[in-house]
Amino acid sequence: MIIPVGTSALLRCPHCRNPVEGVGYQLSNGSELRFAPLCPTCVESEKRERQQHLEEARNKERKLRWETLCPRAYRETDAARLPQEGMATVLAWRENRDGRGLLLFGPTGRGKTRLVWLLLWRLVVEEGLSLVALAETEFAHQCGWHFARGTAQQWVEELCQTPILFLDDLGKATVTDRFRHELFHVIEHRTAHGRPIFLTTNLVGEELTTRLGSTTGEALLRRLREHCQVIEL
Ligand SMILES: [Zn+2]
Repeated sequence: MIIPVGTSALLRCPHCRNPVEGVGYQLSNGSELRFAPLCPTCVESEKRERQQHLEEARNKERKLRWETLCPRAYRETDAARLPQEGMATVLAWRENRDGRGLLLFGPTGRGKTRLVWLLLWRLVVEEGLSLVALAETEFAHQCGWHFARGTAQQWVEELCQTPILFLDDLGKATVTDRFRHELFHVIEHRTAHGRPIFLTTNLVGEELTTRLGSTTGEALLRRLREHCQVIEL
């Protein structure tokens, strides 16, 4: 049994040997134990070191996450070769209460996808945001895969809930009823709940609408125009 003595004793900090106030304990057999705590300076520097370790671990984890998300081809981008005007607007995107996203359109080779990945680097690595990124063809492929395996519910749920959804290269997948339905559902759900979507496409309004059928296409386009900043590149 240990009984606090209640008297303090002058001891030395175990790290730097500077004098500190310690506490003595008297054991039931009469002998005394004295504990010297770290001095305030050492307590502070330990706290700082711990914080630094945590930050390093966090940054490492974010960079790993970035590498699993971003296709190799888009990891290194020469920003000087991207359209500068569009770049400023895209990179200026901030999380916002309305959940406004970005819709980048223009011909192939303008660097739309690269531009979005440049923005996503900041969001993932510096700001720690989570996201799902997939090309529209991957969306179509995963849609079929999850429906065949009975896991579609969770898949759709994740696309609806993820803080940011990046749908790259809209207009490339083969349109089936299921694809059309799920794409619309995800976009409808996200825009209704104020969760941002980033999209890139080579198509212009009419082409997008025709492709998805006039009713769904027009409704989809209306939502995208309302909820995304439209940038022509
Ligand atoms: Zn010390």
